[in-house]
Amino acid sequence: MISEMTERPLASWLGHDRLEGEVLSCLTIIFRTSGCSWNSCLMCSYRHERYPVDKPHGSYSDHILSQLRWVQETYNPDLYRMVKIFTSGSFFDPTEVPLPVLQQIAKAFRGKVVIAETRPEYVQVDPLQSFIHDIDTGTEKIPLYCAIGLETTNDLIREKCIRKGFTLNDFIAACSRAKAGGAGVKAYLLHKPLFLTEREALEDMKSSIRTAAMHADVISMNPCTVQGRTELERYWKHRAYRPPYLWSVLSVLSDSPVHVTCDPVGGGRIRGPHNCGNCDKDIVAGIRDYSLNGDRDLIAALLETECGCKEEWHHVLDHEMPHCMPLTR
Ligand code: SF4
Ligand SMILES: [Zn+2]
Repeated sequence: MISEMTERPLASWLGHDRLEGEVLSCLTIIFRTSGCSWNSCLMCSYRHERYPVDKPHGSYSDHILSQLRWVQETYNPDLYRMVKIFTSGSFFDPTEVPLPVLQQIAKAFRGKVVIAETRPEYVQVDPLQSFIHDIDTGTEKIPLYCAIGLETTNDLIREKCIRKGFTLNDFIAACSRAKAGGAGVKAYLLHKPLFLTEREALEDMKSSIRTAAMHADVISMNPCTVQGRTELERYWKHRAYRPPYLWSVLSVLSDSPVHVTCDPVGGGRIRGPHNCGNCDKDIVAGIRDYSLNGDRDLIAALLETECGCKEEWHHVLDHEMPHCMPLTR
């Protein structure tokens, strides 16, 4: 019977992450679910990692619980203090993760800090309060953070370049509900979505961090990578998109008034944030180190290093022209 089976999540790994000035051991899990209710963002491939839609309703719960069982059998809880949970969409979407499953997951991670990704419309006071009731042992100041892919604080960019389907005000309202439910908020920002020049993307991130910091407890920046089976990939294949330069990532981090965590996934590769190929490795390693230790001098020193591609980056910043996007139909 499926309920007795153990099924692997899409991915899971142990590592470390910085949270509110502290470095915590961390278990990251990506659960396969029935999928994202929005399912439309231009750069997202996670939404494809879902159970087929013809699966009989109700059996999704068994599948998620069997993934949870696999996690419990695989990872000793003494090895991590924090759990980061991703799904094929939103952890707090009750269609995707039904309430009884949510309760089982909370009980499995009782005593841990949980960071769970969700769209803002699913941040509701009652489910958050009951989730916190089940995980909280009084050891953590904020036992739950809702991680929301805000991506940018610019509504036009979020709509035209990402197709995210919510506004900054929706995010701010979700932050208030999270706080009322006893949870913190982690904002994910996307550095260089489609259609922006290198300079536009740089300026968008710098201003987004400043605005997001007024509402979120924690900020994480994702330099954009080209994932398979996405609209972004289609443009990239037609040479109509380039991921951000690592110089730009450094520039954003050095300018930020708050600590911003950043894991440049695919860093130094053609589909990820990259420079010329010669200087990438040290910069990617430095960004990962900074993400954990918060050492601003390291970022400043990396930004001062010399490589032939730095001139190219400056040239791109000065000369790249914006795409023309019609504002009306
Ligand atoms: S980025 Fe999030 S909201 Fe957008 S389609 Fe992917 S899972 Fe859904
Ligand atoms: Zn270089």
